[in-house]
Amino acid sequence: MKNKGLVFVISGPSGSGKGTVVDELRKICTDVGVSVSATTRKPREGEVDGVNYHYMTREQFEKLLAEGEILEHTEYNGNYYGTLKREARKIIDSGKDLILEIEVDGGSQVRNLMGDDCVLIMLLAPTAAEQERRLRDRNTDTEEAIAGRLAKAKIEVAMAPQYDYIVLNETGKTLECANDILHIINASHYTVSRMRTVTDHYFD
Ligand code: 5GP
Repeated sequence: MKNKGLVFVISGPSGSGKGTVVDELRKICTDVGVSVSATTRKPREGEVDGVNYHYMTREQFEKLLAEGEILEHTEYNGNYYGTLKREARKIIDSGKDLILEIEVDGGSQVRNLMGDDCVLIMLLAPTAAEQERRLRDRNTDTEEAIAGRLAKAKIEVAMAPQYDYIVLNETGKTLECANDILHIINASHYTVSRMRTVTDHYFD
């Protein structure tokens, strides 16, 4: 017996392989729903509106913010990113676990809002050197952008104490990594506090 859907934050520095691992997780587990965030950044080649993000202007984003329609948000590289309440609600109402693939600032906002009702997972490359190698292999960034991403990684790793779990994404082991996350998701449903409804009514 599984209790209702829980909220999982997955954060990790650029180069940790977060996107790939979350895609894999979706393939091996149909009980999770990944929230599609809103952003003001332009779509990259191959990205689809409503699938990767809900793309919008700053004015549209700020309007949603003022209307209280955004659960958490941040400004990253000059663009807004935020979780839409309606997206989160849709997934929770379907009974699935909600996955928020967001950066650390958003992660700490979710923790402040939900306390222990959420689970925060940080994904890391095995070493900073390996993370840097992955960023360089992508061949998409300038030296300046890579330096920026590595500097941001230091801030992100420093936030690890606020997280509940750290998972390493070994190179070439996406499936193993997604499975590690799935184990955390499954175990999280059976903590004593989340099974309280069972113990409270056991003798009824
Ligand atoms: P990218 O532009 O590479 O797609 O995303 C940049 C960063 O923004 C990534 O670390 C990603 O996890 C984070 N991000 C994406 N959506 C959200 C969101 O809704 N809220 C927050 N706080 N961060 C997000």
